[in-house]
Amino acid sequence: MNLQIAIHSSPRFATWMWIPDWHLLIDAGDGATQHLGYKIRKIDTVALTHSHRDHIGGLLQVVNQRGEAGNFAVAHPCGSRSFKQLENFASVFNPGSSWRATWHALEEGDSLQTGDTPERVLKAFRTRHYLDDNIENAPRSLGFHLLWRKQKVRAEFRDLSQKELDEMRRKIGQEAMTSPRLRDLPQAEREQMANQTGREGITEPVDEKWISVGGDGEPLDPNEVRGAKLLLHEATFLCKEDRDSGDEEEAEPTHGHVHSTVEEALRVAQMAQVENVVLYHISTRYTDAQIRDDIRAVAQNLDFRGRIWPVLPRRVHWNLLGEKPVWENHSN
Ligand SMILES: [Zn+2]
Ligand SMILES: [Zn+2]
Repeated sequence: MNLQIAIHSSPRFATWMWIPDWHLLIDAGDGATQHLGYKIRKIDTVALTHSHRDHIGGLLQVVNQRGEAGNFAVAHPCGSRSFKQLENFASVFNPGSSWRATWHALEEGDSLQTGDTPERVLKAFRTRHYLDDNIENAPRSLGFHLLWRKQKVRAEFRDLSQKELDEMRRKIGQEAMTSPRLRDLPQAEREQMANQTGREGITEPVDEKWISVGGDGEPLDPNEVRGAKLLLHEATFLCKEDRDSGDEEEAEPTHGHVHSTVEEALRVAQMAQVENVVLYHISTRYTDAQIRDDIRAVAQNLDFRGRIWPVLPRRVHWNLLGEKPVWENHSN
């Protein structure tokens, strides 16, 4: 995949990812500004999956520093009260630049254009991370789809030849020229508007799912991420036993929130037929070698078709997808 993702993920401490093509920062754990430096200024949208400290520890820094470069957006799950409080605090903590942030409280299904091009759209979906979060509440955690919105010929016109399409476009444009909406405009402007109306008349926006990012939580619904070219799924635990035993903070459900295992994450990708998978939010209890070996063993066991990249805890991967995948199997 020819896409740059800079990512750091050490559960309990910090998770953030920077996707330059989308001008998008997903989560803002401690150290995000320190590592990204002036790249911070290129962010159009900061999208936050939930308000655990390892995902928002660096948010105030991001908001302050990004604000120095002008307006930008902060998107977060609408059911989380912490974000409302953070928004209020940010506005008085460093009001000189923090006012540049527009905070968007998102429901599942909400979309947000990132930056000033209409092609890049962020769409939120519900995840399950908090045990007491349920479908009747406004969501407290969200995942995000990164969609490319393309203008394509309308379904009902797809059988037409190019000549017929051009005629259709002209006809719709001509009708617009005589409409009351455009009648009183100067000629040049009227023609321009009519041409645009013609173009829009034969096309419709079609969203292509590029990347799905799940944030923390239970295994995602495969139907939700189906069709993504790339899935970033959390995999806090290498095996189920590590989740069920142990007294560390990650070993819930005693702490009220839940995480996935490598096998669960890969099964989601398999069921959703997603071929490129990033496993992140892997516990710092494991060594790099353990992580690589266990992922390979699970992938082998599942006969996983596709590529897998692990985000090793404690590390900043500057170009994750440029690295050699830990698993690659496209044969037969
Ligand atoms: Zn986390
Ligand atoms: Zn969390």
